[in-house]
Amino acid sequence: MNDYVLAVVIVCLASSLMGQNDSSPLQARISELESENQKLRNANFVLSTLYQTRDPVAVEVPIAEGRRAKLLVAKDGWGDALARDVAAVCSSTAETILRVIQPESTKEPTILIVPGDKVPMVIAHRGPSGEYVVLLTARDKHWSQFAYQFSHELGHVLCGDLSPDQPQQWFEEAFCESLSIWALEEMGNHWQIKPPYVNWKDYAPHLSSYAKDVRDRVQTSDEISVWYQKNREALSRNAYDRDSNLILAKHLATVAQKDTKFYQSFYYLRRRVDPALASMEGVLGNWLDSCPEELRSGPVAIGQLLGIKPHR
Ligand SMILES: [Zn+2]
Repeated sequence: MNDYVLAVVIVCLASSLMGQNDSSPLQARISELESENQKLRNANFVLSTLYQTRDPVAVEVPIAEGRRAKLLVAKDGWGDALARDVAAVCSSTAETILRVIQPESTKEPTILIVPGDKVPMVIAHRGPSGEYVVLLTARDKHWSQFAYQFSHELGHVLCGDLSPDQPQQWFEEAFCESLSIWALEEMGNHWQIKPPYVNWKDYAPHLSSYAKDVRDRVQTSDEISVWYQKNREALSRNAYDRDSNLILAKHLATVAQKDTKFYQSFYYLRRRVDPALASMEGVLGNWLDSCPEELRSGPVAIGQLLGIKPHR
């Protein structure tokens, strides 16, 4: 289990990098995060992670054809919330997402979900049996926040490669953010009819209004292709400017509402990474090459949205 200590790398830095637009504060922030990363490597972190994932609440999430993902939720550390309720929210979130992004057979994920105290993240290094480790900072009975955070991290898990320094990481972040919005909106509708517990029906509108608040946080009057041309350099430099990523995320969530196959294509986003093709055009080309024929409409739509052609 000491594997956890060997390669703990922050993949998703979430809100900690909000609003960083030029290289100097960004550099300072990177230094801070490197220091944070060091802290995560220490024995206390490993011990607490192992302790928390001992005797967890285990739930299975149906995917299709009898296949199942598995969630193992730490039994303590969620404030006023019971672990079984956290598991119910995460299970509902995963079930919603796994309906539209189905992993390949034999690649059904097992995910350890533990309370983190800094930022939500998925750890790049996987457990001894291939488990993913997701840290959530949501606490108490803030179910919308649990769903919002977990859906974002599940997006990273499903994208195919958690190693750090992936090219055009901003785009993966925008996708994961869109998945949060879309999942909250779906769950807001679904919980009105079939919530995890009957007495949680009243919570459905909160899921929807949480998604609306996220959507309302940023606006642009530009077409996405114009916005992208104006911002592409900054986006390539700083993957974690969440307000910038959110501009695209909102559009992706809306596309996904209309096209149920759209999100499945993101399963192939990082399946083939040619470091020589680090530009957005190159990432798009790699993605197109990885996608099964019937899903190529996903990356094609992204190329059209951003106004760029794939480089292959
Ligand atoms: Zn992320």
